[in-house]
Amino acid sequence: MEIGFTDTQRMIRRTIRDYLTREVEPLVPEMEAERLPPYDPLRKMMAALGLGRGGDLAALIAESPPEENLKTFVPRVLAVEMSRVCGGLALSYGASVGLAAGNIRARGTEEQKKRWAVPLLKLEKIGAWALTEPQAGSAAIRDMKSRAVRDGDHYVLNGTKTFITNAPYADVFVVYAKLEQHGSTSVQAFIVERGDPGLDTGKPFKKMGFKSSPTGEVFLSDCRISADRLIGGEPSAKGAVRERLSRERIGLQAISYGILERAFEIALRYARERQQGGRPIGGYQLVQRRLARMYMALANARAYVFADVLAGRDLGGTVADASVGKLYVAEMASYVATEAIHILAGNGYMEEYVVERLVRDAKLIELGGGTTEIQELTAGRWLVEHYEI
Ligand SMILES: Cc1cc2nc3c(=O)[nH]c(=O)nc-3n(C[C@H](O)[C@H](O)[C@H](O)COP(=O)(O)OP(=O)(O)OC[C@H]3O[C@@H](n4cnc5c(N)ncnc54)[C@H](O)[C@@H]3O)c2cc1C
Repeated sequence: MEIGFTDTQRMIRRTIRDYLTREVEPLVPEMEAERLPPYDPLRKMMAALGLGRGGDLAALIAESPPEENLKTFVPRVLAVEMSRVCGGLALSYGASVGLAAGNIRARGTEEQKKRWAVPLLKLEKIGAWALTEPQAGSAAIRDMKSRAVRDGDHYVLNGTKTFITNAPYADVFVVYAKLEQHGSTSVQAFIVERGDPGLDTGKPFKKMGFKSSPTGEVFLSDCRISADRLIGGEPSAKGAVRERLSRERIGLQAISYGILERAFEIALRYARERQQGGRPIGGYQLVQRRLARMYMALANARAYVFADVLAGRDLGGTVADASVGKLYVAEMASYVATEAIHILAGNGYMEEYVVERLVRDAKLIELGGGTTEIQELTAGRWLVEHYEI
């Protein structure tokens, strides 16, 4: 795993892993079984690792030389390490800090950043990013039904969002709606706060995996917000949605990679220790073949997830790279986690051995942030239009 990393990067990874193994891992069975939201463990982790302003890790990032590329490395490795231990931690963190705060930070006014992005980044508040609707998933922009209408110094929003990470508990929502103004329609992002008139959220859904990351609906019923809640002054937020989705796909790759790597390591350790027929099962070539193929997937996935870190860049290449990277790592996470169950066999099917949870978590990343088919279409279109031969 550590191939190509600097000593500082290794040390950071080790520190994050030790903390999560010691402090969070023991909480996970109860968090999953009881569907407990991950916000308190996340806040404690931020404080303990010094990820907030003035903290140890934050200071290290600020002072490190550019070749360490810690600004890119730390969030990436944090997502990997969180999902190894608890997918829900990684997913909720990504939705709040990466998607909601990230959007306000990238496109908001100074006032919006101060009022909403800063508390979200510090996890003083929890954010949600609401694009998907009951009838608008893969075609989220085209088929969007949520509407915004300008009324004097206010906007009035109507619509329903679904499958929204953190929605049942979030304080701040970045919500997309179509704005009808001056005879034309544009997609826009708005900041809505819990407590705003006309905003409501549903109960957490019961779902297959990521059980400690709450998912739910957002209802907007004549939700009246002041005009300064519009994010970005562009004619349309379509470009920003695509940009955010590309970033999300890079974050999701890291989440998938954490699942994949953990599943591989559990299977490898088990293959070394489990005795059958008078020898470790890892001594049988048919088991070794499975492990070799799992490792092949791991090594390729690692190249996608850390390519930009190792190249000293900020973001993982083109739109096509973000899409095929997410597609590949997500599919390989499902494959490797399923293979891990096979190597553990009966024990793999039991909750105690963790790999069944990894299979359940892995499947989501083939769907969320755009399904496999949407990644294929996005990458294919980009290649035809932009790839330089
Ligand atoms: C746990 C969880 C958390 C989520 N968090 C968020 C969040 O925080 N914010 C948010 O906005 N959304 C979120 N989502 C929504 C997620 O992004 C959508 O579920 C996803 O984009 C797919 O949309 P859909 O479920 O409506 O599927 P659909 O779009 O209905 O797709 C159904 C099937 O049809 C296929 N299909 C659709 N269109 C095409 C096409 N043009 N060509 C070929 N095949 C096609 C799809 O690939 C899929 O197999 C979350 C979802 C889940 C499950």
